[in-house]
Amino acid sequence: MGGIDGTVEMKVGIIQYMDSGHLLPGHPKCGVPHGHTYKVELTVEGPLQNGMVMDFSDVKGHLKTVMGELDHRDLNTILEFPSCENLCAHIHGRMQARLPGKTLHIRVWEGDGKWAEM
Ligand SMILES: [Zn+2]
Repeated sequence: MGGIDGTVEMKVGIIQYMDSGHLLPGHPKCGVPHGHTYKVELTVEGPLQNGMVMDFSDVKGHLKTVMGELDHRDLNTILEFPSCENLCAHIHGRMQARLPGKTLHIRVWEGDGKWAEM
């Protein structure tokens, strides 16, 4: 089992979606309430153990819980200024708290063609 365990680092990734509303206070275009379908890409980086970086079902479960707090919600009730960047940092912090010691990359797509990554 796991012939290359401990000898290499790899990345695994998952993607999940949510629909949320927000407005950006003071912004000329985004200052009125509107919504987005957000795509969240999570990458976990680390050494191979028992043939895995991390069990996909565990990663998915954590992200589902964290995004469940944001899905179909008014993001302004959760974040003072819910920009794509601040949302990305929020999700990263929540996931890092659940997966201490793991190297996480979060990319949040705000609709098509716009993203922030941490
Ligand atoms: Zn927006």
